[in-house]
Amino acid sequence: MKPNTDADVIIIGSGLVGLSLAAALLQGGLRVILLDSSDTPQAQPVALNDPTVDQRVYAISRASENIFRALPHQQHTRVWDAMQAQRVSPYQDMHVWENRAAIHFSCTDIHEENLGHIIEQQVMLAVLQQAVQTDGVQRVCSAQLHSFSVQKNCVQVALHDGRTFTAAVLVGADGAQSQVREQAGIRWDSQDYGHHALVATVRTELPHTKTAWQRFLPTGPLAFLPLHEAHTSSIVWSTEPAQAKKLLRLPEPEFQQALEQAFAQKLGRIESVQGRALFPLIRRHAREYVQPRLALVGDALRTIHPLAGQGVNLGLLDATTLAEVLIDAQQQQHDLGHYQVLRRYERWRKGHNLLMLAAMDSFKTLFSNDFMPLRWVRSLGLNWADKNALLKQQLMLQAMGINGDLPRLARWSGVS
Ligand SMILES: Cc1cc2nc3c(=O)[nH]c(=O)nc-3n(C[C@H](O)[C@H](O)[C@H](O)COP(=O)(O)OP(=O)(O)OC[C@H]3O[C@@H](n4cnc5c(N)ncnc54)[C@H](O)[C@@H]3O)c2cc1C
Repeated sequence: MKPNTDADVIIIGSGLVGLSLAAALLQGGLRVILLDSSDTPQAQPVALNDPTVDQRVYAISRASENIFRALPHQQHTRVWDAMQAQRVSPYQDMHVWENRAAIHFSCTDIHEENLGHIIEQQVMLAVLQQAVQTDGVQRVCSAQLHSFSVQKNCVQVALHDGRTFTAAVLVGADGAQSQVREQAGIRWDSQDYGHHALVATVRTELPHTKTAWQRFLPTGPLAFLPLHEAHTSSIVWSTEPAQAKKLLRLPEPEFQQALEQAFAQKLGRIESVQGRALFPLIRRHAREYVQPRLALVGDALRTIHPLAGQGVNLGLLDATTLAEVLIDAQQQQHDLGHYQVLRRYERWRKGHNLLMLAAMDSFKTLFSNDFMPLRWVRSLGLNWADKNALLKQQLMLQAMGINGDLPRLARWSGVS
């Protein structure tokens, strides 16, 4: 018999992945409790002409766009419409280069309007938070996880303030330092990438032409991601920790000069820089994705080098795959927290995650190695690939995330 619980699913963590999971479960008719330690109930929506740009911006793939197109926002709108009504920045081209070799991707080569979008975290959070403001989701802020206990028919979660909640399943969407993962005793493999990522918003002399730029330097990749304003880009500069810390502390004119030099002035002079911040980059991958009554998603499950901008995109695939598995189980009147139900999610996602982690490792090793023969092979390879139209089409489709065994929401075509 189904136990009388407070909800079907409790999610710890209402970042982009936890919120998307809640919205997907809600759409499938499941009851959700969403707990987060943060005390900010609602991110401020962003006006199109607002000059401030969120420090955290993400390259969002076509698969993620499909997910946002499929999720309801308010009665007659979708999450994607609401994000577009604030601001999203499509990019149509991507230019990747190192000293003597380059490869250029264009959306026209695959008959698409763009290759993806650059979106501020604040825009996505504000819209997703609105999307889960309904009776089916109980969202609790300032809710710090204390402990949880798995029982025969349910899982009970206790907060530091003494409140308790029960559900059939507990999901850890609580980021890289996941307490859910720690308390479940799930071990993970980790490896320091030996890079820190410096992020900032910059204004350039020349327009970005809706192109995402990436230069591979011997110390790591430097990306310029085009924002809504033609002269404004968000940068992600991955480099050795000592250099990253030095760059963070440089006075602005010297930082501008260093950036111009590293970017070979592709967009002319750097006219201003806002909001520099550093992120140490560590590869993590949980050895188990699920246990009875428990599952992990997003950064709680895996963290990956941002050189191909995949972390959120993979997290959204985790969330929508898990939602599909749970909704199917609910329709078949199975126990949502049963290990066999949750194992379907693990089997579905693990291969893809391993592939992406391995691909990022190879890219990083190949491009940060200054060994002469490798540099030579790399240049030849890039120039050769640039002339191979078929290969480029495949690479673009791969980066858009629309290949492979996707959950229903990521394949969504606009027909309900
Ligand atoms: C420099 C950089 C650039 C990146 N660029 C891209 C990109 O272009 N594209 C892309 O797809 N990805 C990118 N990523 C990856 C992306 O940032 C992460 O994958 C993504 O933010 C993970 O989201 P999440 O919801 O899983 O975790 P988080 O955003 O970390 O959310 C976790 C939530 O859990 C809450 N929480 C934590 N602990 C507890 C607790 N004990 N109790 C209750 N609540 C708790 C937190 O308050 C938070 O709200 C980048 C990462 C970096 C570092």
